[in-house]
Amino acid sequence: MDTLLRTHNKLEFLPYSHGGFTEKLSYLSSLKLQSQDLKLGPKKSDLKRVRNVCVKASSSALLELVPESKKENLEFELPMYDPSKGLVVDLAVVGGGPAGLAVAQQVSEAGLLVCSIDPFPKLIWPNNYGVWVDEFEAMDLLDCLDTTWSGAVVYTDDKTKKDLDRPYGRVNRKQLKSKMLQKCISNGVKFHQAKVIKVIHEESKSMLICNDGVTVQATVVLDATGFSRCLVKYDKPYNPGYQVAYGILAEVEEHPFDVEKMLFMDWRDSHLNDDKKMKERNSKIPTFLYAMPFSPNRIFLEETSLVARPGLPIKDIQERMVARLRHLGIRVKSIEEDEHCVIPMGGPLPVLPQRIVGIGGTAGMVHPSTGYMVARTLAAAPIVANSIVRYLSSDRTLSGYDLSAEVWKDLWPIERRRQREFFCFGMDILLKLDLQGTRRFFEAFFDLEPRYWHGFLSSRLFLPELLFFGLSLFSHASNTSRIEIMVKGTLPLVKMIKNLTQGED
Ligand SMILES: Cc1cc2nc3c(=O)[nH]c(=O)nc-3n(C[C@H](O)[C@H](O)[C@H](O)COP(=O)(O)OP(=O)(O)OC[C@H]3O[C@@H](n4cnc5c(N)ncnc54)[C@H](O)[C@@H]3O)c2cc1C
Repeated sequence: MDTLLRTHNKLEFLPYSHGGFTEKLSYLSSLKLQSQDLKLGPKKSDLKRVRNVCVKASSSALLELVPESKKENLEFELPMYDPSKGLVVDLAVVGGGPAGLAVAQQVSEAGLLVCSIDPFPKLIWPNNYGVWVDEFEAMDLLDCLDTTWSGAVVYTDDKTKKDLDRPYGRVNRKQLKSKMLQKCISNGVKFHQAKVIKVIHEESKSMLICNDGVTVQATVVLDATGFSRCLVKYDKPYNPGYQVAYGILAEVEEHPFDVEKMLFMDWRDSHLNDDKKMKERNSKIPTFLYAMPFSPNRIFLEETSLVARPGLPIKDIQERMVARLRHLGIRVKSIEEDEHCVIPMGGPLPVLPQRIVGIGGTAGMVHPSTGYMVARTLAAAPIVANSIVRYLSSDRTLSGYDLSAEVWKDLWPIERRRQREFFCFGMDILLKLDLQGTRRFFEAFFDLEPRYWHGFLSSRLFLPELLFFGLSLFSHASNTSRIEIMVKGTLPLVKMIKNLTQGED
């Protein structure tokens, strides 16, 4: 949440009509609203009593089950950075999320001196990450999945269910972070617990000013601060779409889902039959249910707006979720943790190149059509790390700017930029689809040959193949869907071609 509050730009959220008045929420006020909502929940002393009550009525009743925030730290003795030594480290990594730690670990493995700066370096990452198992297998990270499902299920409507023959997993974030921290420690990474507030560059080094008054000096600075985009600069208007979701890890009396399969998307809307207004809102900007069933009575449930601009208010999403759970007969007994998810998708890339290097959320790496990023970032970490190591070890004569330019070139080569443009084109079409259009789109999408939909979701398809993917999608689409794609896709297509031709240099 703190990360999100630091986002530079004011992010607009949709006006939301509820209970007779319309609230226009700016991003910041929506976050305040969320925390107020959550504060309306019971004090600790009341929790036991409330937890015994099964929730099936309102979103406020659901929120009453949300525990006070549970922040768990890892039990590591971290070697701390000593500012009194005035050392210039080879690499300072700002942000200790999956992206930052992965690079810190790999650069330090090559014997370079790394300092990792984060306000909460031992905190277990808060997000509930899901990935396709083959993505983690390719990186030898299967030991960092705590649950896997043999496949996934998509409901496009009440009559159509698609079985996806592709195993899915939940990331064991405690294990993944522990593994990375352990390696960082044994490679000699130093940690500094603070927020970076400013950077000053000199020809051969940069000075990072932290909020505790400490200055960390480094030859290369990597901004891995996620969507807060702390140091990396953008020079174009920031106009992403937003994936907004509300998730709970809950103990329930029972649920109707197969525990062998995860529920990738449930676009059914029969739960809204009794609420015309909500149904109308949902048919214009639909939300779907994503669920990870761990057992017959423990499940992660997340109501998700795939992408909208402006983003949907979280309160609307919570209400849709409550209606859905009631309809599915899911009675929530207690909530272990909840998740407010706001992911900016698409939008411009940062200025390429620039003195600060970036990775992860800060470097435009989120998949513009899906909001996924963990696997892609972890796979890109060795590219960034090798690049930094190569230029630092071989040619100390490169200026700080030239060195960063080389690293950016390796992170965002032309093929990757073209691929991202295509994914942004996908997002622009999704932004225009209502519920019916979205259903038709995913019916055609999941009918594609697996190499196409796997490759699209996992950023493995590049431009010539992406064109075949597009043609194949078009040929699988219904006639209505084809007309829709042509009508709604023409402007985004022109935009993509323009960006592609401009991006060639
Ligand atoms: C709720 C949620 C759920 C998601 N689920 C998935 C999923 O299931 N699958 C998937 O692939 N992707 C998912 N994503 C998208 C993406 O993978 C995550 O956002 C991922 O955490 C991004 O990793 P990161 O390392 O770039 O940034 P983050 O994980 O956000 O880490 C950034 C770090 O930088 C630190 N920081 C911030 N500002 C400063 C500063 N000024 N100085 C020093 N440190 C700073 C923060 O404390 C934080 O530790 C999800 C995103 C969200 C928000």
